[in-house]
Amino acid sequence: MYQRAEARIDLGALRHNVASLRSRVNDDVELCPVLKADGYGHDATLAAAAVTEAGADRIAVATVREGIRIREASPKIPLLVLGAMTPTEAELAVSAGIDASAWDPEFIEALGSRASGAGRTIGVHVKYDTGMGRLGSADPAQVLEMARRVAAHPNLRLAAVWTHFATADESDRSFEIVQRDRIAELGAQVKWEFPEVKIHAANSAALISDPKSHFDMVRPGVAIYGMDPFGADPAGHDLQPVLSLHSWVASVKDFDVGMSAGYGRTWIAGEPTRLATVPVGYGDGVRRGLSNRGTVLIGGVARPISGTISMDNLTADIGLDDEIKVGDEVTLIGNQGPARITAEQVAEKLDTINYEVTCGISPRVPRLGVEERS
Ligand SMILES: *Cc1c(COP(=O)(O)O)cnc(C)c1O
Repeated sequence: MYQRAEARIDLGALRHNVASLRSRVNDDVELCPVLKADGYGHDATLAAAAVTEAGADRIAVATVREGIRIREASPKIPLLVLGAMTPTEAELAVSAGIDASAWDPEFIEALGSRASGAGRTIGVHVKYDTGMGRLGSADPAQVLEMARRVAAHPNLRLAAVWTHFATADESDRSFEIVQRDRIAELGAQVKWEFPEVKIHAANSAALISDPKSHFDMVRPGVAIYGMDPFGADPAGHDLQPVLSLHSWVASVKDFDVGMSAGYGRTWIAGEPTRLATVPVGYGDGVRRGLSNRGTVLIGGVARPISGTISMDNLTADIGLDDEIKVGDEVTLIGNQGPARITAEQVAEKLDTINYEVTCGISPRVPRLGVEERS
């Protein structure tokens, strides 16, 4: 521990997860890890190097800026932006050589003119809205028309037709199957005209639960980071958590009955006890909603977060345990011996999903690449 709070990124676990997911798909299916939102809070640059080493074929991000950052760190791997781009962003994507997603004819027009202006050819993945209800046309005839438009443009290359599942993480499979059947049907038509074009649909949940959704490429995000797409224990799907979040005991203090800690006096000692002050707070992404609800590990034991979490500090009740001393490590997500706190457990307390827990760790927390389980 040499900084007040740090997120350790276990690169061995990351590579393990890539290999584990790779083993679930056929050899001719491309693996395209999703590194958007700074790699779900794991540091996209660190993650890009690790997934490339572990055999990823391509990396997807949500924005052009995210793509450019990865391009600088990993110059060779093909990149794809999944999200919408403004015309200005399209120009940046063209000059960085990053594939774009096209969701309407106007964008195809704008992208095509930027590409011809630059004298370059850019790969295009045409989006089909099979049921997510966001970007892309829900009319297969229009999607086919867009694909033809891309294919006919001298500076655009029709790389793929793709979709995104709305419910692949739910136990009721019926809507995922509806969406899968829609992309399969249109995909067959597109391939009949353009045999080289790839079809892709699967996120982590579909990759794990539905081999028929793999098509030509899979786009796992959350599972790459060793988090469970279904919110369960990641070990159940051979996934190893990549991120752990740590701080340290900066102070230990005795509390008599009636003394309080933190803003609003939301915690008042009901019996004599001791609190550890841990210099990490909601400014670091430790959500205030965990006040008097969450736990942290100190000395290998889960200790209740007692009092309101402030921007830069929280307090945890360590009882009259004399073992705990200033300088001891505090684990907010991760293991201390057999004791552990997973992102899934934190998410459950906050009534949210593991994705939001790691994405929410703020830039103030340095990410350190470590090799724990290579
Ligand atoms: C985020 C995202 C993914 C990855 O989803 P996970 O549930 O994290 O596996 C795949 N495809 C698209 C279009 C996405 O936006």
